[in-house]
Amino acid sequence: MSRAGGGARRLAVIHTGGTIASRPDPAGPGLTPQEAPAVPGLPGVTVSTHQPFRLPSPHVTPEHMLALARLIERLAPESDGLVVTHGTDTLEETAFFLHLVLATETPVLLTGSMRHAEEVSWDGPANLLDAAHVALHPETRGRGPLVVFGGELFDARTVTKVHTSAVDAFGGYPGP
Ligand code: ASP
Repeated sequence: MSRAGGGARRLAVIHTGGTIASRPDPAGPGLTPQEAPAVPGLPGVTVSTHQPFRLPSPHVTPEHMLALARLIERLAPESDGLVVTHGTDTLEETAFFLHLVLATETPVLLTGSMRHAEEVSWDGPANLLDAAHVALHPETRGRGPLVVFGGELFDARTVTKVHTSAVDAFGGYPGP
């Protein structure tokens, strides 16, 4: 679908950290931040990327959530859709917070990944692309923040992490 009046659709992608933006630390057993992934090919879409912070999600506080909400409110009028990448451990808290405070009609889709960029089963690019498609779909407008994960769509009010290692790690009420 093209925008009314023509022109490329505008997608804003906001990266905040988590496994989707991490790779193994060469010095130890954990993960270390890396460049967040680019959205895989989306013809006719102009993508802008933003990174207000880059944190493992257990480090995300209400202040970070508020800063994220303010950035979304600023970007929303100039975007057809927004995607937020986030660590999975507190993705549901940020989604619920955004549900409470956002007033925008512009679709806001949250996603992340359970596997990192050096695993063959990295789920980051597919989740990101799914989120982008839903964010740009005209029927998503006005439905509040949603979560896309493992090929499923969830309402921000009920989404919850239900598995610590599976790639379909989230459950809850289906989104619209
Ligand atoms: N510990 C990571 C985080 O929530 C886990 C993940 O992103 O899957 O930031």
